[in-house]
Amino acid sequence: MGIITFRVMDNKHKVIHEFDLTLIGDFFKDLNRQGPGSEEVTHLALHFAEALNKDVRIADIGCGTGGQTFLLAKYTDGTIEASDFMPEFVTSFQKKIDNSPYADRINLRELSMLDLPYKKEEFDVLWAEGSIYNIGYKKGLHEFKKFLKPGGFIAVSEASWFTESQPEEIFTFWNNEYPEIDHIGNKVKQMEEAGYKAVAHFILPEECWWNYFNPIKAHIPEFLNEYPDNKQAKELTEQFEGEIALYEKYHAYYGYVFYIGQKI
Ligand code: SAH
Repeated sequence: MGIITFRVMDNKHKVIHEFDLTLIGDFFKDLNRQGPGSEEVTHLALHFAEALNKDVRIADIGCGTGGQTFLLAKYTDGTIEASDFMPEFVTSFQKKIDNSPYADRINLRELSMLDLPYKKEEFDVLWAEGSIYNIGYKKGLHEFKKFLKPGGFIAVSEASWFTESQPEEIFTFWNNEYPEIDHIGNKVKQMEEAGYKAVAHFILPEECWWNYFNPIKAHIPEFLNEYPDNKQAKELTEQFEGEIALYEKYHAYYGYVFYIGQKI
């Protein structure tokens, strides 16, 4: 989910704790994605990870309701270990898997990315689309690496600054929500410092954000109907609207960038 809507990991950030997690799970469980993205960008990142049409073993970490997981299955011939820690997402995504042609290639589990039970060097590809911020970019790159075979690839998308400096309002917003947001050059450097060759990176086009925001906007009235007179539900939707308004105003200054690295 967008950074503001989902930061349960971090006790410093109080706002989210005022929301019932179930409420968030309920809001997003029927939506196809919980972060910015598109079929095209997932495909492009798979290309850089040298996984297209290959029989690779992939871990999809923080998979949400599986928007990108089905694309990983579609564009590779591999098997996917998908995981997310939100029970509502796992239940909803499992139903979709059972009704898909990929049931034999996607294995879904409810797991926290802070404590993954995978074996050393088990995977050819690690995927964390719009989710690595939950453990933190640097920590995630470092911690996940042990699960990757030497020469294997990691692909993550992550909030990044596009400009040298930013207007005060958006600078403060991001530094409160996710202080690890940084310039693209620094993110690339951090990937290298974590022991990867920086293979490629690219900015997600604006339409990726609307693929995320438009279904949220469309779902708000229905959600408020389900939770009449619920103050938290109302506040949650206002938070979404605030995040969308900030993006409209300041999208020249920040966005998501896909970073693809190869374990050395
Ligand atoms: N990859 C999906 C979801 C991105 S939103 C997409 O792009 O649509 C971030 C996801 O991380 C959410 O599904 C959230 O439930 C999950 N998440 C947050 N903290 C987590 C944790 N500690 N362990 C596993 N998943 C987590």
